[in-house]
Amino acid sequence: YGAGGGYGAQQGYSEERSSARRVADHYSARSNQTLEERENSPIIHLKKLNNWIKSVLIQLYARPGDCVLDLACGKGGDLIKWDKAKVGYYVGVDIAQGSIKDCMTRYNGDTDQQRRKKFSFPARLICTDCYEARLDEYLYEDAPFDICSCQFALHYSWSTEARARQALANVSALLRPGGIFIGTMPDANVIIKRLRESEGLEFGNSVYWISFGEEYAEKKFPASRPFGINYKFHLEDAVDCPEWVVPFHLFKLLAEEYDLELVLMKNFHEFVHEYLQKPEFTELMRRLGALGDGRQDQSTLSQDEWEVSYLYLAFVLRKRGQPPTQ
Ligand code: SAM
Repeated sequence: YGAGGGYGAQQGYSEERSSARRVADHYSARSNQTLEERENSPIIHLKKLNNWIKSVLIQLYARPGDCVLDLACGKGGDLIKWDKAKVGYYVGVDIAQGSIKDCMTRYNGDTDQQRRKKFSFPARLICTDCYEARLDEYLYEDAPFDICSCQFALHYSWSTEARARQALANVSALLRPGGIFIGTMPDANVIIKRLRESEGLEFGNSVYWISFGEEYAEKKFPASRPFGINYKFHLEDAVDCPEWVVPFHLFKLLAEEYDLELVLMKNFHEFVHEYLQKPEFTELMRRLGALGDGRQDQSTLSQDEWEVSYLYLAFVLRKRGQPPTQ
């Protein structure tokens, strides 16, 4: 771990670098919660719903033995999901040193009970900025990957065109032909719609708020300047840092330049309605407990949490070309 490129304090940081650092510091500082703290979180059902959505994406697209690249892997919250999909190898990359340490602890097992049940795949963890570093230089021995995942994090690359391009260049360089890129990120259409519906430059509910700066007072976003559209996002017990709008139609066009073709894009509400119909995923939802199971004593997602989930979308892209024949 720590393949160079770590985000230590340095003089002369550009503006983008210092915002990337603010994001890294925010996530690094978030400590692991105890089970009790997690269950008492005001957004516990939203967290469970997000886990369900990530699990569905992984179950739909990962194959046994796959080589996985998890960009912005955080504390390794998806390790168990990849284990259930029986993947063969895992590389996790994140900018936040604290998160990479937690991810390593989770992978190694931090209690005696967990230590007995090891993950079935070998793993490598790297601490670097996925949107600045050329990851193919770190990962030439591990590539090509069958599947790349970037969950709740790709929007941190849209602070500049160079970073957005580096993110896609990394994915494209490391995926095999026919390889899959799955992810989740804020749905810019919903965010801009909410902004225009609100009286001022802020909107939200009891669990989140989003605040745009005065430079967006006219609420106009010219297509000629799609990068660096910045807002502050606060989600109770989860996020409190700058984020960037990703206009999805431009993301799709940019991805095509890197040989990544759109397979699927769905707002979380549509995603839930569609995949909750499928028995295997209904059962998974019941086990995770995100939506309760209809019994009166079961708590469920609040209206405010459901509104937050509407702010996000899931996407799937495929790297052009034919997979190598076995
Ligand atoms: N993917 C994980 C998950 O779903 O549990 C973590 C999601 S968390 C909301 C966002 C993650 O993106 C944080 O771990 C943060 O450190 C990481 N991140 C943000 N900017 C990054 C960058 N430039 N390079 C690598 N990781 C980054």
